[in-house]
Amino acid sequence: MTITDLMTTKKPDSKLRLKVLEKIGEHKPYNCFQCIRCTSGCPAMKMLELKPHEIVNLAKLGFIEDVVNSGIIWTCAMCLKCKERCPQEVAPVDLILALRNLAVEMEAKIPEGHLKNVSMILETGFILTPREAITRKLEKYSRDKLGLPKLPKPSEKFKATFLKALGTS
Ligand code: SF4
Ligand code: SF4
Repeated sequence: MTITDLMTTKKPDSKLRLKVLEKIGEHKPYNCFQCIRCTSGCPAMKMLELKPHEIVNLAKLGFIEDVVNSGIIWTCAMCLKCKERCPQEVAPVDLILALRNLAVEMEAKIPEGHLKNVSMILETGFILTPREAITRKLEKYSRDKLGLPKLPKPSEKFKATFLKALGTS
């Protein structure tokens, strides 16, 4: 999918545009002058069908629905580099996050990996399960073997706060 494909398939939607703008805070896409500094520093650029400056441009123009439904927004690594590099304080990463929230609200398809991460955090408090430490001699040490305590399960308060932060409760 290219930016031209998206812009020729649908008309801009001003209501959705406003909805996204409300979620972003002070970093507004209309301040973007397409200098591409965000994209030139983006570590996920090669994996992104649309580059950060293109996503900003589409949002600026109001082509929100296609971006939300395309899966592009889920490839961003949330490294914040684009936010650091932008001379206009646009923060493409904040926009991508707002688009993700909107995708959930609109019941758009969410990649399975992200749903698994949410379940894992609710179940264990972490995205990844603890790994064994490996020495230079390739000996493996689990937490048990190292005499470390078992990790506590997340409390109900943590789960409620996490779900609230996700906007699902
Ligand atoms: S760095 Fe900022 S101003 Fe430049 S293209 Fe990216 S979002 Fe736009
Ligand atoms: S936050 Fe996302 S879009 Fe921004 S530089 Fe990092 S990977 Fe790229």
